[in-house]
Amino acid sequence: MCARGRRDNCLTGAYVERGITGAHGYFRELAIDDARDLIVVPETLAEVAVLVEPASVVEKAWEVARTLHQGEPRTALILGAGTIGILAAWWAQRLGFETSVYALEPPHSARARLLTSHGVQYLPSFPAARFDIIMEACGDSAMAAASLSALAHCGVQIVLGARGANVAMPYLDLILRNQIIAGCVNASRAHFANAVVQLGRLHRRQLDPLIRRSGFHSIPESITHPSADVIKAVHVVSEG
Ligand SMILES: [Zn+2]
Repeated sequence: MCARGRRDNCLTGAYVERGITGAHGYFRELAIDDARDLIVVPETLAEVAVLVEPASVVEKAWEVARTLHQGEPRTALILGAGTIGILAAWWAQRLGFETSVYALEPPHSARARLLTSHGVQYLPSFPAARFDIIMEACGDSAMAAASLSALAHCGVQIVLGARGANVAMPYLDLILRNQIIAGCVNASRAHFANAVVQLGRLHRRQLDPLIRRSGFHSIPESITHPSADVIKAVHVVSEG
């Protein structure tokens, strides 16, 4: 446990996190955890509870974005239509943002249709408009840097997945437009708890299509030949 109780924002790095640092993950039949690390998921959400972890990341990302923005942000652009990107769009809508997603999937793809059928604007090409919040969930640093051209004055860009690469950073534009770029990863216990509450407020038809369950035996296929239609592949180890 982090001394501040914020393993996601630990200042020393001297903390333990299962499957990440200092402790094995959950690929085992029994595990014992500190009750302080557990949150209750209502039985009604059991089928979508696998989304709590990515939702906790999104919950934190939106908290950071809204804390950092110094005006009244109204518009949001999400980059990427994976689990994080789609959840970030659902969160943006609930927070009252005019929400757009830009991703590589074609406009007729299942992901794009899922988003548009719930009122999110799916952009087939990179927008000329500017957005108050840009949330990068596509893992592409060149895209993250290029998208700064679509960041409004006082805009905030949250970087969730872009890896290091040699990209040109428009620092002068950042200065002249008073913009902020923030990295964000993991989440605190409170974010997990809020994620459960927020998931409970979304329609199941927004959440169920994100998950495709299959047996344990098909793990190799999910890794080597992931289907573009499957947003979050869940492998059921035991039906017991
Ligand atoms: Zn700490």
